[in-house]
Amino acid sequence: MFVTLTAPSFGAVHVRREKNGRVLPCHARRNAVTCPHGRVMSCTAKHGPTEDRLGEPLCPDCYDYTGSVLFNAVSPELWRRFTEALRRRFARVSGLTLKELRDQLTISFAKVAEYQRRGVVHFHAVIRLDGPTGPTSTPPPWATADALAQAVQHAVGAVTVTAANHTLRWGAQLDIRQITMTGDLTEQAVAAYIAKYATKAAECVGTLDRRIHNLEELGLYRLREHARRLIAECLRLGAVEGLADLRLAQWAHMLGFRGHFSTKSRRYSTTLGALRAAREEHMRTEQITTGRLALFEEDTVLVVAHWEYAGQGLSAGDQILAAALTGTRLPDVSGGTR
Ligand SMILES: [Zn+2]
Ligand SMILES: [Zn+2]
Repeated sequence: MFVTLTAPSFGAVHVRREKNGRVLPCHARRNAVTCPHGRVMSCTAKHGPTEDRLGEPLCPDCYDYTGSVLFNAVSPELWRRFTEALRRRFARVSGLTLKELRDQLTISFAKVAEYQRRGVVHFHAVIRLDGPTGPTSTPPPWATADALAQAVQHAVGAVTVTAANHTLRWGAQLDIRQITMTGDLTEQAVAAYIAKYATKAAECVGTLDRRIHNLEELGLYRLREHARRLIAECLRLGAVEGLADLRLAQWAHMLGFRGHFSTKSRRYSTTLGALRAAREEHMRTEQITTGRLALFEEDTVLVVAHWEYAGQGLSAGDQILAAALTGTRLPDVSGGTR
């Protein structure tokens, strides 16, 4: 199954909506209410696909910035609970204990996190059913695609995570599609889809690709207001007692999300242009954060704007540039996938 788990709403944002190839008004409301800050909660614009306003709140003062960054911060835990709930549900409907289930069925997951323009992550996941020993064995006949879809539906609604008196859960929007070898959603289509989303990173929100340590430093960057407020909220919550585990200040530049996108960042490669831009930005960061090497810290997800399949292996020029950039000897990558 190819499953998309979404974040809930944290307030109305500008969106581009299309129906039958026509662009619809963003938030057309006949009797639109005026919010406590005096803003009319309506927008009749037909937004273009690259407009800066997309994903930004109709009223930033009404927008739940706390909920938004907390959702990102707990989403890896929410995901973990979802996978557990799914296994439990499968066991329960088939009248088995969890252990008995494991003896008959393996449920495996591959996922990618995608930033929405409003600054929250969605998860796209491939969920696969196999027999007890994995892909080499067949799942029992009762473990059908329908049974999986129903269990997913149940598990998504069943899990929550509480942080700072906020109860975070998945959004109501849930997309479940079956992957087939021949139909609309083939394995190849899913692979292409995931590759596309793996590259649509936080910068589509207009945030930064390096750590921000305090509000003063945040003030040095020219950012759109929405991204600035999301980062500022991470810094604020990062200092709240009881939230230390979420390491929100450390991951403020990722708007609170600290998971990996789908695998180790180093597995992703990049284009020459992106490398050059990264090097320039790194130089700039160095001047601000005396001696800290922000871009290539161990856990950092390398954020690139455009990513495309360029072929196998690295060219000599790429290798020299990459070595200069990281200051390390490269592992043998010949035959690897760029
Ligand atoms: Zn709008
Ligand atoms: Zn308001």
